[in-house]
Amino acid sequence: MAIAIVTGAARGIGAATAARFAREGHTVAMLDLDAEALAATAVEVGGLAIPTDVSDEGAVAAAVERTVAELGKPTILVNNAGYARDAEIGDMTTEEWDEVFGVHMRGTFFTTRLVQKYMVEAGWGRVVNISSISALGHAGRVNYSAAKAGIIGFTKALAAELGPAGVTANVVAPGFIVSAMTAKTARRLGRDFEEHQRIAAESIAVRRVGRPEDIANAVAFFAGEEAGFVTGQVMYVSGNVS
Ligand code: NAD
Repeated sequence: MAIAIVTGAARGIGAATAARFAREGHTVAMLDLDAEALAATAVEVGGLAIPTDVSDEGAVAAAVERTVAELGKPTILVNNAGYARDAEIGDMTTEEWDEVFGVHMRGTFFTTRLVQKYMVEAGWGRVVNISSISALGHAGRVNYSAAKAGIIGFTKALAAELGPAGVTANVVAPGFIVSAMTAKTARRLGRDFEEHQRIAAESIAVRRVGRPEDIANAVAFFAGEEAGFVTGQVMYVSGNVS
């Protein structure tokens, strides 16, 4: 069993992933910006709560240091923390651009740069990065789409670089998942959340929206022993054909 770090673990996909890892017997360090929600989720899951802004280089260094000191050397890393700041391109502010790149791209870079050395040292490691179907292009989201596509390039390069050391790196790209993020989109569109889900399900092949556990299942596959011959891949988990 391994020491795993999951970012954005206070709720949604990150919380479901942390819970899944804990059930599998891994020891989990849970990082999130929202200290209060994180503390409650960590008690439920049985993980170590480390309040962290993943876009802050120093905060990430302190969180990884604390993980090593209190739990041991991590060999599983899930870069899941994220949010969207949607706007049409003409209205998008530089802050909205930078914030979205900060959490997704800087965050993924900062954690991976530090944690990979423990994986290389162990001769075994699993990096699983959370992208999105928005990486394929999503109107009103050039910042988020570009950052999520960037995560795919980052992961493929990482997979090529660390494969010889026994470390795999893969991407899970979710479609519509019921979480605080999609609830916020519903509010922005002035829709009731249930209604928003019903409308979304109509254009999904399996005719339902996803749950955080649907994504945790895919993450658990990539993080597991049996996925050792799979690296640099993107798994779309969207109930759909793309
Ligand atoms: P969520 O809002 O429920 O959870 C995201 C978590 O990330 C929150 O707890 C938040 O506090 C945390 N976070 C945000 N910024 C952070 C930062 N700078 N440092 C540390 N933690 C931070 O959303 P979710 O749906 O569970 O999203 C998880 C991931 O899945 C995100 O990367 C998101 O882009 C991606 N995703 C979600 C969907 C969806 O439909 N919900 C679809 C595709 C991709």
